[in-house]
Amino acid sequence: MNRQKSENSFQRAKEVIPGGVNSPVRAFKSVGGNPIFMASAKGQFLTDNDGNKYLDMINSWGPMILGHNHEYVVESVTKALKDGTSFGTPGDREVEIAELIVKMVPSIEKVRMVNSGTEATMSAIRLARGFTGKDKFIKFEGCYHGHGDSFLIAAGSGAMTMGTPDSPGVTEGTAKDTILADFNNLLSVISLVEKHRGELAAIILEPVGGNMGCVPPSKGFLEGLREICDKENILLIFDEVMTGFRLAPGGAQEYFGVHADITTLGKIIGGGMPVGAYGGSKEIMDFVSPEGPVYQAGTLSGNPVAMACGLATLQVMDQNENFHNDLNAISKVIVDGYRSSISKLGLDYKINQVGSMFSLFFNNEEVVDFESAKKCDTSLFGSYFRDMLNRGIYLAPSQFEALFVSSILENDDIELLLNSNEASLKELHS
Ligand code: PLP
Repeated sequence: MNRQKSENSFQRAKEVIPGGVNSPVRAFKSVGGNPIFMASAKGQFLTDNDGNKYLDMINSWGPMILGHNHEYVVESVTKALKDGTSFGTPGDREVEIAELIVKMVPSIEKVRMVNSGTEATMSAIRLARGFTGKDKFIKFEGCYHGHGDSFLIAAGSGAMTMGTPDSPGVTEGTAKDTILADFNNLLSVISLVEKHRGELAAIILEPVGGNMGCVPPSKGFLEGLREICDKENILLIFDEVMTGFRLAPGGAQEYFGVHADITTLGKIIGGGMPVGAYGGSKEIMDFVSPEGPVYQAGTLSGNPVAMACGLATLQVMDQNENFHNDLNAISKVIVDGYRSSISKLGLDYKINQVGSMFSLFFNNEEVVDFESAKKCDTSLFGSYFRDMLNRGIYLAPSQFEALFVSSILENDDIELLLNSNEASLKELHS
């Protein structure tokens, strides 16, 4: 594949943008080669600057659950654009999307819109601290909650991929209030809760790990956390930036039947525009300014064009009651196909799947937490990634990411993906 134009763009970008990219996970640092510059996207395909077409299996890291340029979404955004790009005042689209979120997510009675997942989690922690009057919180190794200072501790994919788990610039003072527990290990949580009794405002987690590759919660893990939080007066925060609207209309909470006190949302909620949100019960959310004392604001929060994009995306899902069952069924066909290729080739690689999120791990051990994820053969993954790219399949450029299936995939696409995957694995082991 000729990628000369892409390469030229990257060299130009490196002069004026750190590393040539506006988010480190887009760089190909851990897989080798240079990032590809995309010019356009339609349906299930991305097209790069040189006109090469790729089947998109990352879907903008999750948001494009309907595929790219969905007709109804484009119509809604176009209408909003014509109405004006920003008012700096409240508008009806914000109310409409808030009503739909409240309808879809079981534990949310009120919601505040922000501009990214990072903003959502930073605000959620501030709210939890303000509401409980306590400072510390528990996070899990390998879970990523955006790049807020207090979360950049054992933070999963981006940091793991870059080899800098703790970032310079995060002060010790900030880090001391973040307490680290092991994912899927309730005992580690219980002993930390005992040690910090009366000091913990919240436990925050990705209910399905997505930033150490896809790591499902073990049986009873989420229920156990819910119980601990109820008993100890700690708020349970589900970071559903990835899982929200993806696993079920109400996200992981609906999928697993365990409710959070505060939920953070991002990605799909904006349908590809920069949107995040956090929500919870009226009692908790009324602690947010201007109703309550916890300050949080945003010049462009609730932007009408972004709201139109997110609202249209959520409406498409809300109006099709089979949407998630169908999406999960497509994903199962893909994962079954991967599994059959792996066993046909006599390999023992592990695959984790929850709904339409999955990861193929170059690891012969089950991946259940950060420690087991770290045992993957990342150099082999790099070769696999590059080979798949040359076959026209765009995967996440890191072993420690989940792949996100979109609802637009057709039988031909699945066949292309499965054939490419098998051929690539075969080539790697020939
Ligand atoms: N939380 C989770 C679970 C995420 O996966 C991410 C981003 O990947 C974030 C928070 C941060 O969201 P954003 O990149 O929109 O700031």
